[in-house]
Amino acid sequence: MPSIVTPQIADSRAVGALCAVLCHAYPFVHHTTIGQSVCGRPLHALSIGHGEHAVLFAAAFHAQEWLTSLIALRLCEDLCRQYIGEDTRSRFDFVSVAASRTVVILPQINPDGVDIAIHGSSRGGSHATMLHVQGADIKGVWQANAHGIDLNHNFDAGREQLAAIERSHGITGPCARQWGGVCAESEPETAALCALCRRVPFHHVAALHSQGEEIYWQYGDRTPTHARMTARLLASVSGYTPASPNAIASHGGFKDWFIEHTGRMGFTFELGRGRNPLPLCDFDSIYQKARDMLLLTAVL
Ligand SMILES: [Zn+2]
Repeated sequence: MPSIVTPQIADSRAVGALCAVLCHAYPFVHHTTIGQSVCGRPLHALSIGHGEHAVLFAAAFHAQEWLTSLIALRLCEDLCRQYIGEDTRSRFDFVSVAASRTVVILPQINPDGVDIAIHGSSRGGSHATMLHVQGADIKGVWQANAHGIDLNHNFDAGREQLAAIERSHGITGPCARQWGGVCAESEPETAALCALCRRVPFHHVAALHSQGEEIYWQYGDRTPTHARMTARLLASVSGYTPASPNAIASHGGFKDWFIEHTGRMGFTFELGRGRNPLPLCDFDSIYQKARDMLLLTAVL
């Protein structure tokens, strides 16, 4: 059977449409929203299963990294195919754990940023002028949300250190990337994701970014001792490399906050290689290389 999730420009409309088609094809998938973006776009959530052991995947934090939405949605499709017995060849059998599990997939945390990156500053509504001045219409530049805040700098983890690093790079206000805003969780997208994690005791989470084929698994003293070994296991099925991020990406991220807040495992997968946005022609090869790592994360 041909895939539902095929390579395509994954703006907010496309992601919403793919969520609807997946739910139509697989009626056991629950489709809801966890909130709205700055400009009022829905933050979609798909979930499979009703078990206590909950696992979260979240994608498209950074506007140029919109290909990660398609990776998350293809993962959802693959889990559904396993669930109904259409795919029995996987090394990592979701069906065997499905009864005790809930997999939640947030395909697009930053829908405003993605639409601005793909279609231009006019998609930022009342913020369009600021967005244009800050370079949103320059191809390949915009990573932030419609307020010019980098969502992966807006989580409450190492705020002071991160703000000092941002200042040392001359980043002090709304811009295309790497400004964390004046306080943690100031953005509705960040706040909605944190609220979900406070409501649902996820066993572990995975944030999908691009690129570099790396796995980040560590943040501070609360990193669980088994996280290093798990990252190595995930690396062994994908060829990715367990790594630590650069200084300016070393605080304020979702996985940083999740580890510090819960003491449980949080991963960032840096999918693919090249220059963002990664080309659509690379989608299938990126997904195939990451597939077992993603399926293993779902059944851990
Ligand atoms: Zn990123």
